[in-house]
Amino acid sequence: MAKIVCVLYDDPMNGYPTSYAREDCPQPEVYPDGQTLPTPKAIDFKPGALLGSVSGELGLRKYLKSNGHTLVVTSSKDGEDSVLDRELADAEIVISQPFWSAYMTAERIAKAKKLKMIVNAGIGSDHTDLQAAMEHNVTVDEVTYCNSNAVAEHVVMSILALVRNFIPSHNWMLKGGWNIADCVSRSYDLEAMSVGTVAAGRIGLRVLRLLKPFGVKLHYLDRHRLPEAVEQELNLTYHSSLESLAKVCDVVTLNCPLHPETEHMINAKTLKFFKRGAYLVNTARGKLCDRDAIVDALESGQLAGYAGDVWFPQPAPQDHPWRTMPHHGMTPHISGTSLSAQARYAAGTREILECYFEDRPIRNEYLIVQNGQLAGVGAHSYSKGNATGGSEEAAKFKKA
Ligand code: NAD
Repeated sequence: MAKIVCVLYDDPMNGYPTSYAREDCPQPEVYPDGQTLPTPKAIDFKPGALLGSVSGELGLRKYLKSNGHTLVVTSSKDGEDSVLDRELADAEIVISQPFWSAYMTAERIAKAKKLKMIVNAGIGSDHTDLQAAMEHNVTVDEVTYCNSNAVAEHVVMSILALVRNFIPSHNWMLKGGWNIADCVSRSYDLEAMSVGTVAAGRIGLRVLRLLKPFGVKLHYLDRHRLPEAVEQELNLTYHSSLESLAKVCDVVTLNCPLHPETEHMINAKTLKFFKRGAYLVNTARGKLCDRDAIVDALESGQLAGYAGDVWFPQPAPQDHPWRTMPHHGMTPHISGTSLSAQARYAAGTREILECYFEDRPIRNEYLIVQNGQLAGVGAHSYSKGNATGGSEEAAKFKKA
């Protein structure tokens, strides 16, 4: 029987919810490219419940317990005396999440002698050292598509919040003001602007489709070019370099995975390619950007705004400068963990576990690493190597 260690974020400060804002939690019938939603044999939760925090347990306890397995659920993941480190030695499966990143570094993978699989209950497996997983023949998988559309909605919301200067205007109301001139002196229309996405995969393409009705000019960069029919449908301009894209865009959004090729792709040098006063929205990964270069660009006016929900490391230490830099629209890592998305990634995690324990193949689209190499979505969207360097700084976070 297997031991499964599951690392989830903490419950709400006032305790696990006993009721919710809505009675139901509508779900799409199918994903935009025809991929089906997760298909576990059963689920032991009600969609719309908080599943991603410790007490929610991704709705897995009944299933795992009834099959004789041991489930350890914890939010303690950083520092040498963390529960994760203590439990790793005989763990067969680690379930991790991007939102409260359980960094599966080479050291941890080497320590976990029985480890066979790391399941990411979400999308974006950069918090696992993929090179070490390949070398130790550990399978890495994620619930592809579970929250891609949720993130795309957050991207569009963030673009509008920055361009329209929404957050400072809202703050004037909280402060008791009616300061119209203060609000609008940084407010523009999105209409007629040029918007570019770095990567047009599941999220990037959804962002392009959602933005089309705003009357913007759409641009993209990807290492895989979209079909001609899609380029024509959305009137897209393709770019083969960040420089070419950034030079013409008023808004740039990052939607590629973090891997050694994309780490720090936005830095002091590449920020010079951007138009002065461009907006940058990054819900992909914090480490795609050089932390201090973003602060400098906002302070100098090279960027007019920066928004997103991803940081490095996670949780971000209290003194992380993105908490206090000017003209930002940052949140903690929430875009992919709405209650709607949680129902899908919990069901997808269950599907992956059922396949593993019943010796059935895991869907190709869920695979990142298998049999010592990049596989499935991993082979399409990632490069070999490791992007977890510096993650030990997450231990500096102190609960407010
Ligand atoms: P996807 O695999 O469908 O798309 C990724 C795209 O990136 C692919 O089209 C790939 O060709 C492209 N790409 C990879 N390397 C590139 C490079 N060097 N230059 C240009 N393009 C490159 O994945 P997705 O569902 O669209 O998700 C993308 C990323 O978004 C994830 O890997 C994750 O990091 C992030 N994400 C964040 C959240 C969140 O909650 N904030 C949730 C889901 C995903």
